[in-house]
Amino acid sequence: MADDHAPTVLIVIIEDEPQIRRFVRAALEAEHYTVIESETGTRGLVEVGTRRPDLVIVDLGLPDMDGIDLVRDLSTWSNLPVLILSARANETDKVGALDVGADDYLTKPFGVPELLARVRALLRRSVRTHGEESTTTRFGEVEVNLVQRLVTRGGKNVHLTAIEYRLLAQLVANAGRVLTHRTLLRDVWGPNQSENTHYLRVYMSNLRRKLEEDPNVPRHILTESGVGYRLALS
Ligand code: CA
Repeated sequence: MADDHAPTVLIVIIEDEPQIRRFVRAALEAEHYTVIESETGTRGLVEVGTRRPDLVIVDLGLPDMDGIDLVRDLSTWSNLPVLILSARANETDKVGALDVGADDYLTKPFGVPELLARVRALLRRSVRTHGEESTTTRFGEVEVNLVQRLVTRGGKNVHLTAIEYRLLAQLVANAGRVLTHRTLLRDVWGPNQSENTHYLRVYMSNLRRKLEEDPNVPRHILTESGVGYRLALS
């Protein structure tokens, strides 16, 4: 459904492999996004600075700069959503890039539906961040109001401990985004606890028990294996 009057959504892809650039461009253009390609990090930063895109897709294996440095650089001067592409071999780089500000990742090889789902989620998130001041977030039967510090499920108040609430608030404030173990531990427990991932397992399982329909098959509070957690709203 092309709408000639719809505002153009601009996406910059920074990736040195031409086949992947072509593949991503074709998939995004079929959905009427406008795509700008860049084969190097240096050029990509210039494109992002001058073209003001709505989203950046960054491959972590670039010829001229470390992908993590690029993401760190980007996040110091922009709030743009950043989707990273990584090869299976650089799992640590992926976590590192999420730690310094990337929003989500795709592991190569990935398919068109996966790519489009991530892109849509990140664009929705950025509209929410800059758009109307909606204070209530809903997922499943749960409603969370961060201003009133109120959590209900099926209309009934849910009692959460202080730590459970802080964890949930982080997930809600970053809905759709992958939060690494390190980020969650730092933001909820403080800078000295960044290795204690077992705290997270315990508290996430409490949250699932209180908020998920089936805590063993969570639909909203999702585990990103070896990386962290994500709140999926739908
Ligand atoms: Ca590459």
